[in-house]
Amino acid sequence: MRVRFWGVRGSVPTPGPSTVRYGGNTVCLEVRLADGTCVVLDAGTGLRELGKALAAEPYRDKIHLFITHGHWDHIMGLPFFGPVYVKDTTIVIHPTTERGIIGTRDPIMFDTAHFPVAFADLPATIERVENLGVHRIGSASVRHIELNHPGGATGFRIDDGDGTSIVYLTDNELNPPTAPKSTIDELARFAEGATLLVHDAQYLPADMPAKRGWGHSVVDEVIDLAKRASVETLALHHHDPDRDDAALDAIAANAEAWVRGTGVTSVVAREGLELALHRRG
Ligand SMILES: [Zn+2]
Ligand SMILES: [Zn+2]
Repeated sequence: MRVRFWGVRGSVPTPGPSTVRYGGNTVCLEVRLADGTCVVLDAGTGLRELGKALAAEPYRDKIHLFITHGHWDHIMGLPFFGPVYVKDTTIVIHPTTERGIIGTRDPIMFDTAHFPVAFADLPATIERVENLGVHRIGSASVRHIELNHPGGATGFRIDDGDGTSIVYLTDNELNPPTAPKSTIDELARFAEGATLLVHDAQYLPADMPAKRGWGHSVVDEVIDLAKRASVETLALHHHDPDRDDAALDAIAANAEAWVRGTGVTSVVAREGLELALHRRG
């Protein structure tokens, strides 16, 4: 399996000189399964560049889209995703546990008030999966878990036939002020042994308690989860819009120190980062 980060920013795009190294596009990951199938995790503004890369390839198989939830930073790229305007393209939109705005009705940005093109007029074929069970896609299976986020969000685990796996958990608050949808134990079991865990790490301890209940996690707690789940690589993701490149460098250095000797490798996600996953051991 191969994973590429096309957008790593949370909340809102942050272009400009202070974010140029990690990138300002909102969240979007491309996952290429062992059999070449393209799976997209979240449709933030990073999706636009991914669309251009797929067109240049060109990629002809179905594109599978998993969107964690309907907050703007996770759906803003969809109207600017080139493949939706290509007639012979098929895009499969998979459902989320909460707010079925992506899976069960037309995405809000195609209501012609927010964007000029209506969903029904998109040239591509859009298939929508309605049931949330275990999905078989190409060489992989995909499972889901409910996350702790205002309005709800869904996390995904993709286990590929080549023995590699990615767990994608954003937006998620590991220690929410109210009863969690999924406890840390449940999340650790879900992520157990993953080749790559990509987790929301928007906050630092200094952001708390002001941002408790906002639905995002503190870096330290995310590292604890990665250790507990014995994942191979942890990617800190969904960066705060106020975190500039220097601040993310500091997080990277701290995270590396915290995981040293634990068997976990940490990385701070940045636009353009590509990880080739290999079966463990
Ligand atoms: Zn978000
Ligand atoms: Zn959100």
